[in-house]
Amino acid sequence: MGIALAPASRVAVLRERTPIVTTLCSHSSLQIFHGARAEGLGTLGVAVGKPPRFYEAFPLARPDRFLAVPKIADLGRHARTLRKEGAVVVPTGSFVEYMGPEAFNDLDVPVFGNRKVLGWESDREKERDWLEMAGVPMPRKFADLSSVDGPVIIKYYGAKGGKGFFLAKSPKELGDFRPTGPYVIQEYVVGTRYYAHFFYSPLSEEGYRVRHGSIELLGMDRRDEANIDELYKLGAQEGLRQAGIRPTFVVTGNVPVILRESLLPQVFDIAARIVDTSVDLFGGMVGPFCVEGIVTEDLQFKVFEISTRIVAGTNLFPSGSSYSDLVAPQLSTGRRIALELKRARTEDRLVEVLS
Ligand code: ATP
Repeated sequence: MGIALAPASRVAVLRERTPIVTTLCSHSSLQIFHGARAEGLGTLGVAVGKPPRFYEAFPLARPDRFLAVPKIADLGRHARTLRKEGAVVVPTGSFVEYMGPEAFNDLDVPVFGNRKVLGWESDREKERDWLEMAGVPMPRKFADLSSVDGPVIIKYYGAKGGKGFFLAKSPKELGDFRPTGPYVIQEYVVGTRYYAHFFYSPLSEEGYRVRHGSIELLGMDRRDEANIDELYKLGAQEGLRQAGIRPTFVVTGNVPVILRESLLPQVFDIAARIVDTSVDLFGGMVGPFCVEGIVTEDLQFKVFEISTRIVAGTNLFPSGSSYSDLVAPQLSTGRRIALELKRARTEDRLVEVLS
């Protein structure tokens, strides 16, 4: 028996009832419902207001039913019914962000994965401590503006999608920086971005082992980010600045990528360290997570961020990726979640994957 994340009472009903995979109608819901349906589980879409019509266009990914709430904050009021019906909430970035980490943490419905991770990833400093403890290579951090000695990216706390980030190619350019809130100063890493989609199973004893369980690499993407990705078309940054255009990193889509095979040992080692440290710190980051990094020209993978739940980049692979095809056929991250849930139920280990 491994580490229990949930009290047995919270998951008791799931021994008798087929789990109903429940998520917000947004982000990666199509893939989550598609995977759950493929594994014979029930599905429930939480819609704020009217359920989106796009599900009609995707019959294989449409949830069995919808729960419409006027505001996402109202979901807590349905907790008792949801629990009784066997709902298992699958968190996504949108779900947690719209609901707010505190309200999400207080939701009295079984959640797939460890909700304690919220406290570690919503705070940039704590996330960095975690990665430093894990010995993961990261961009340098500067204590203050006066210590900057090269290109930097300045990130605001809690900024989502890189909103308002400031880039400076040199210390001289910091003169233009007018902070609008608390921030961190990071080395701007010059290289190529990769977002690696992993899954940590505390139940599995096969494959790439970590201390408790194993990890799988299910896919990889790169994010399209407006307007930074297209800025080069308009010329050098000086010209842009004069034109009043500031680079932003708002994600607009995702493209599939594959990593040089010789870099895989580095990425697996990084993912394993992050998972092992998460077990020591808060019982483990169970389920999907994403290691987001930049590979430099000397082939170092530097991690600038981790996402501790399913990322939207996994939507590229509803029927498998170049990596997950080598784990099992037709394996999306959504389906992998359903498989883990089913296994935990069969082995009576639900408390290890739900919280
Ligand atoms: P989200 O919450 O959407 O993941 P965020 O606000 O936490 O975004 P980051 O993911 O840290 O922000 O960064 C946003 C983007 O900025 C990255 O996708 C990447 O393109 C760029 N970026 C971040 N850190 C660095 C870095 N150290 N060097 C170069 N580019 C970076």
